[in-house]
Amino acid sequence: MSVFVSGATGFIAQHIVGQLLDQNYKVIGSARSQAKIDELQKKFGSNPNLSMVIVPDISKLDAFDETFKIHGKDIKYVLHTASPFKFDVTDFEKDLLIPARNGTLGILEAIKEYAADTVERFVITSSFAAIFDLARLDDDNLTFTEDSWNPDDWNSCQRDGGSAYCGSKKIAEETAWNFYNENKDKVKFKMTAVNPVYVFGPQRFDADVSKTLNTSCEFINSALHSTPDKLPQPFAGGYIDVRDVAKAHLYAFQKENTIGQRLIMSEGRFSTQDILNYLNADFPVLKGSIPVGNPSEALENSTAGAKTDNHKTKEILGYKFIGLKQTIDETAAQILKQEGRS
Ligand code: NDP
Repeated sequence: MSVFVSGATGFIAQHIVGQLLDQNYKVIGSARSQAKIDELQKKFGSNPNLSMVIVPDISKLDAFDETFKIHGKDIKYVLHTASPFKFDVTDFEKDLLIPARNGTLGILEAIKEYAADTVERFVITSSFAAIFDLARLDDDNLTFTEDSWNPDDWNSCQRDGGSAYCGSKKIAEETAWNFYNENKDKVKFKMTAVNPVYVFGPQRFDADVSKTLNTSCEFINSALHSTPDKLPQPFAGGYIDVRDVAKAHLYAFQKENTIGQRLIMSEGRFSTQDILNYLNADFPVLKGSIPVGNPSEALENSTAGAKTDNHKTKEILGYKFIGLKQTIDETAAQILKQEGRS
C-alpha cells in the first residue's frame, strides 16, 4: 500500500517524501510535468519506492480522477499538500482561491469515487492562515488556538494578495472538513489538518537553492542578500521548521491521537530584525554586507499583540520543535554553501 503526496515537488512536500522514503513507505507523488517528475526522481536517487503521476492543474475538479482510478486501490494514506503559495498575484480567484478549493474538493471526490474503501487517512496541509484573523493581529486580548477560524470568506478575502492567500487556505480547509463530515458514511478515511505558520529551514536538496526561494524561505534569502543601505522589507509572523512540519504530516496519519485535529505548527515569532540579528551574529562572512537594523526591535521574545496557544498540538505530537536560531542558521548556511560563500 502507498502514501499519495500531491504537489510532491514543493518545498514542504519534498521533506515529507524524504521522511516517508526514510521510513520505507511506498510513495506516489504528483507533479505538474514530466520534467518535474524526472528531476525529483533523480534527486531521490531513482528510489524504487517513489513513483510519480502528472497532475498539471488542481484547479480542474477532475484533476485527480485518473490517478485514483488507476492507483486508488493501492493508496492507504493521502497527504494533500498542493496549493499555490504566493502573494504577488492579481487574479485572486484564478491564481489562489479556485486551485485551493477545487484541488481539495477534487482529490476528496476522487477518493470517494475510486478509493472509498482503501484510503484510511486524509491529511490536508492547511495553514495558520486558516486560523488567524488578519485584522486583529494587534489585539492584545486575542489568543488563537486550534479552534480559531479566519473570519474571511470568498469575497471578503479578496483585498490583496496576502489576504486572498489566507482566504484560499481557510476555504480549502473548510471545504475538506465539510466534505469529511458530510461523507462519513461513504468514505473510510479519518482526517487531520496541519496548520503551519511561516515555514523555514533548508531545502531538502542543496540543488534547490536558487536566486529566489519558496515564499517563506525567501524572507531569509532576501535578508541575506540585502545591503546596509537597503533594509529588507519589514515583516513579522510565526515560524516553524520544515522538518517539524514534515514530521507532523507523518504523525497525522500514523497516530490515532491526531484524528479529527487541527495541528498548529508554530514555535514562536520572528521578524525581519530577528533574521538580521542571527545572520549578523552567526555568519562572519556577512558582516558589513547586510544591514544591522535595530537589533533591540527583535520579536522572538515579544508578547505584544494577539497570542498563539498551540499547547494542545504540542501535547498531541510530543516532540520538541526546532528553534528560531537553528532554523534561520541552517537555511542561511545552505544558501551560503551553494553560493560558495561559506
Ligand atoms: P511550494 O510553492 O514549494 O509548493 C506548492 C506545491 O503546490 C508545488 O508542488 C506546486 O507545484 C503545487 N501547486 C501549486 N499550484 C498548483 C496547481 N494549480 N496545480 C497543481 N499543483 C500546484 O510551497 P510550500 O511547500 O511552502 O507549500 C506547500 C503547502 O504548504 C501549501 O499548501 C501551502 O499553502 C502550505 N503552507 C506553507 C507554508 C510555508 O510557510 N511554506 C505555511 C503554511 C502552509 P509547482 O511548484 O510545479 O507550481
